[in-house]
This record gives sequence, structure tokens and C-alpha cells, in this order.
Amino acid sequence: MIWKGVIEAYRPFLPVTPTTPVVTLLEGNTPLIFSPRLSAKVGRDCKVHIKYEGLNPTGSFKDRGMTVALSLAVERGARHVICASTGNTSASAAAYAARAGIRCVVLLPFGKVSKGKLAQALMYGAKCVTVEGNFDDALRLVREIGKDKTFAIMNSINPDRIEGQKTAAFEIIETLGEAPDFHFLPVGNAGNITACWRGYCEWHAAGRSKKRPRMVGFEAAGAAPIVHDAVVEKPSTVATAIQIGNPASWKGAVEARDASNGLIGAVTDQEILAAQSWLASHEGIFVEPASAASIAGLLKCVESEGRPAESILLAPGSSIVCTVTGHGLKDPDTAIANSGEAIPCGPTVAAVLKIIGK
Ligand SMILES: *Cc1c(COP(=O)(O)O)cnc(C)c1O
Repeated sequence: MIWKGVIEAYRPFLPVTPTTPVVTLLEGNTPLIFSPRLSAKVGRDCKVHIKYEGLNPTGSFKDRGMTVALSLAVERGARHVICASTGNTSASAAAYAARAGIRCVVLLPFGKVSKGKLAQALMYGAKCVTVEGNFDDALRLVREIGKDKTFAIMNSINPDRIEGQKTAAFEIIETLGEAPDFHFLPVGNAGNITACWRGYCEWHAAGRSKKRPRMVGFEAAGAAPIVHDAVVEKPSTVATAIQIGNPASWKGAVEARDASNGLIGAVTDQEILAAQSWLASHEGIFVEPASAASIAGLLKCVESEGRPAESILLAPGSSIVCTVTGHGLKDPDTAIANSGEAIPCGPTVAAVLKIIGK
């Protein structure tokens, strides 16, 4: 079957009608990659698969929600779309708005958006505004401006976004033939953990899977409001995509955690960067820092087994899925800063051999 994007693939489960104009860049259908080295690190015959969401059209899972949100906004007659963004929401909204032929305005927190993401929003033709303040400040402005109904809000407070994002769970069930035992993912605004849990619940109810996974989310330690059960006024982490102090889908995440007997924990920037570089160099999967929070979280659970709060028992033979949310090329500066420079060398064979130690 030819892939036509998530709306055509999962139409009966999405809030669209036969007359909804479908705005798509053929998002979804991302690979679920078996990870032998990560599985070996986890041990006890556990099988770890990585859902590589960085291979969506704009390089993050945001495209799944954006196709639904943009299509419905166009159907309802929106003239402009607007969002606050740490980068990936704006990249995605800008691309889908370009596709739909409507205007896109993005509010970016000052100095917090990585180069790749900014380049995308600018190239897709969005009006990019840098706001003094953090993401939560930018979202507050968007909520105000969105009271004018000619503006459609593309943040995950828009319920259509969550609907589209749940399709990742459908794909995982289809690929594995069953839901996994554990699903690890990064948590920022908590829309994705909310959405994936909903996807698993809907397909479980529809008889398409026998079980539902335990949902295991990881925030960055410097931006961990759900872990501490308190708003973080000045969230701080290298993982800019999850630098959120007051998550829009806080309640949904807590429900997903509690209903699935799961966990929401925190990983430090050091753990995130170590997991990012380990995943790239051991599995060939390059993700942006925020995405590596799921991998860092899994490794933390393995290492701190038995200690509560940051640990969950992984039974032998468990099937584990880790979502990696965005592509590594989104944030080249952080990658280069943490992996050292290329080594300068004269233009001779001898000089090259000397450096590579051969
Ligand atoms: C948006 C985003 C997240 C956080 O997802 P939430 O739904 O806000 O929890 C994590 N990683 C990347 C790369 C993102 O773009």
C-alpha cells in the first residue's frame, strides 16, 4: 500500500470528516528500529526498539499532530496559524502552513531555539518573532492572541494536535503485532506521552492489542515540574525542546503515568548528552538532545534498579519501545560542542596515518 500520511492511514480514529481538506507532507510511517546494543545493555532478554520520529518531514514527531491540526484549522476557516515554540512546533507549523497556503506566526523564546529549527521556520516562510522570556511566557501570549478566532493555535493545547500524535502508538502496535510492555519517551509539554497513551487505550479498546504498555516519561532535571509536582519558574536544560516549566498537558501525563502503572522521572543534562552520543555512535541513530532523554531514562532505570522514584522494574523478556522525538541535525551546535573538533592535518598520506594511528 502506498503511504498517504497519518490522516489517510488512520482516518476512522481521527476527528476528520470526508470533506476535511487534508494538509499533509506524508508524515508518519517512521521506522521502528531494533537496537541490539541497547537491548544488550538492558540485558535479561529484553528487546528494545527505537521509534525514530526524527524521520518525519520536518524532522520531529510534531508533524503527526500538525497534519490534523492544520487540516481542521483550514476547514474551520482560519486565516493565520500561531504557535509558541522551542523550535520543532514552529518548524512543523510553518511547513504545514506553507503547504496549506496560509500565514504562520511563531513566537520563539529568546536565545532558546537551536539553529536547525530556526532555519526551518524562516525558510518555510513563517513570521518569526523572538520574545523576551521563556517558552511559558511565549505560550501565554499565544493564548491571548488566539482569542481572536481568525488565529488558530498550533500548540498542543490544541486538542487536534494530540489526536494526530496518538498515531505513533498505532504504528508501534502494527509493527510489533502487539503493544510493548514499556514505552519510554521524553516529556516537555507532555502532549506526546498523553497522546501515545490515548492511542494505546483506543486500540486496546478496539481489540487491536491485548495489552497496554507502562508509560515511562523523562523530564530534564533542570525542567522537571511533573517530577517535583511544582511549576519550575526558570527551567534550564541543554535539551531545549523539553525546557518547559509548566507543561500544557500536565494532567494528561499524570493520568497516563498512573493509569498505566508507569513512571515520570528526571535525567540530568550530562546523562542526556551521554545517551545522545552513545546512541549515535553505537546504533547509528542521531537524535537531538531532548530525544535522548528517553534513552537516558531507560539506562537510568537499568542502573538504579530497585531504587524508587527513578526506577521501574524491567521484567525479563520485556518488549521496550523508546521514542526518539527529533533529528540530530536540528541542533548541530550542541552536537559539535560535545563531541570535539575534527583534527587538522596536512595534505599527505603520512600525516593522515599518523593521526589515525595506523
Ligand atoms: C516537542 C518535543 C518534545 C516534547 O514533547 P511534549 O509533547 O511537549 O512532551 C521532545 N522532544 C522533541 C524533539 C520535541 O520536539
